[in-house]
Amino acid sequence: MSHVGLRQRDARAIAEIGRLRFSPLSLVGGRGNRLIEEGGRAVLDLSGSAGPALLGYGHPAIVEAVEKSIRNMAGASLLLYPNEPAVSLAEKLLAVTPGEGERRVWFGHSGSDANDCALRVLAAATGRPRFISFIGSYHGNLSGSMGISGHTAMTHTLPRPGVLLLPYPDPYRPRFSAEAVLSMLDYQFETTCPPHQVAAVFIEPMMSDGGLIVPPPGFLKALQERCRRHGIKIVVDEVKVGLARSGLMHCFEHEGLTPDMVVFGKALGGGLPLSAVVGPKEIMDHAAAFALLTTAGNPVATAAGGAVLKAIEDERLPGRSARIGTLFAEGLRALAGRHEIIGEVRGRGLAVGVDLVVNRDTREPVPATTTAKIIYRCYELGAALTYVGLKANVLEFMPPLTLTADDAAEGVAIVDQAIADVMAGKVSDADVASFMMW
Ligand SMILES: *Cc1c(COP(=O)(O)O)cnc(C)c1O
Repeated sequence: MSHVGLRQRDARAIAEIGRLRFSPLSLVGGRGNRLIEEGGRAVLDLSGSAGPALLGYGHPAIVEAVEKSIRNMAGASLLLYPNEPAVSLAEKLLAVTPGEGERRVWFGHSGSDANDCALRVLAAATGRPRFISFIGSYHGNLSGSMGISGHTAMTHTLPRPGVLLLPYPDPYRPRFSAEAVLSMLDYQFETTCPPHQVAAVFIEPMMSDGGLIVPPPGFLKALQERCRRHGIKIVVDEVKVGLARSGLMHCFEHEGLTPDMVVFGKALGGGLPLSAVVGPKEIMDHAAAFALLTTAGNPVATAAGGAVLKAIEDERLPGRSARIGTLFAEGLRALAGRHEIIGEVRGRGLAVGVDLVVNRDTREPVPATTTAKIIYRCYELGAALTYVGLKANVLEFMPPLTLTADDAAEGVAIVDQAIADVMAGKVSDADVASFMMW
């Protein structure tokens, strides 16, 4: 009988509704900035497993913290008893997250449940039923968080009633300028979306799954001012681009935002399931038994979270992300001289996107097959990455912040070769048919 590989077993056992596969990469291990493929090949990870692998794989600080915590487990839940790692992490999050007044922390397992929690508690505590978010935004895949998301991959599910989805101004494809969006918001406030009905606006300080879009300078700050005038709370979703990835501790700092609530996820657990909401005491203490997840805040996941925050400080990861991110983006930008398909390289720190176009003048996005082929070829050449964007035309780079300058150069060389090979027709449509995901 022939050997049945992980990929076939995956296809037979794992539900399609819970997976995105961008290449045949199947994993048996990981160390540092490399993923170990079934068969033993080490692949350079430029995906960060979609964000959580902020410190790569098997980082000694996380291993040590988790080992210590699981050997002497202080319970398995934060519901019934406080535990040291969870309380310490909450204290630390309060210390590193700017904000005024008394605040409290809620722990969950994923960015989705954290956005759900923020949404529900804001609606209940303010008595306001409406929310504002953006077309292209991704806030999660649970009922609540999905209901305020605006990604085109989610049109299978209706938005939450009363949600106002605004365009996110895109400087590269300026169909709606910052001024136009603000004017649309003013008009909505004057007409069918009375601002006193709006509890909060959910903001991605850089739109990530919607296409790695850095907002035009001043846009988010102007939006914040308009909302504050009406008592609308500012919620910043830092799940993907927060915690040092953007080159600053918090991505919202680039935009001059002063959020009422901040949502953390992905990187916070360093690969373990962990999310958090930091918000005003009067909202976060709204009611008892309001957002209880039994194993959330368990001492193992929160010990990992503590190790992540400590490593961000000890290894000065914001500065490192800015430095290596600049190197990496410059390397990718230099490829534009050889490859017409590269329309723009953008991002902040080690959150980098490469926007692929059919034509640099019209900026028409390439078809998803082209993006998928480049990712497939990168996989063959030894690097893992994914794509994002409402037209599936943006290569997404979210590597571990432990990426070295050599790793960055290796990644750029692989992308260079992969684009050349795809343009030369070395990858077929059939090769990527099962890797075009969203
Ligand atoms: C991934 C993501 C989420 C959801 O996080 P999960 O851990 O997948 O539940 C929420 N917001 C943003 C911005 C994300 O990128």
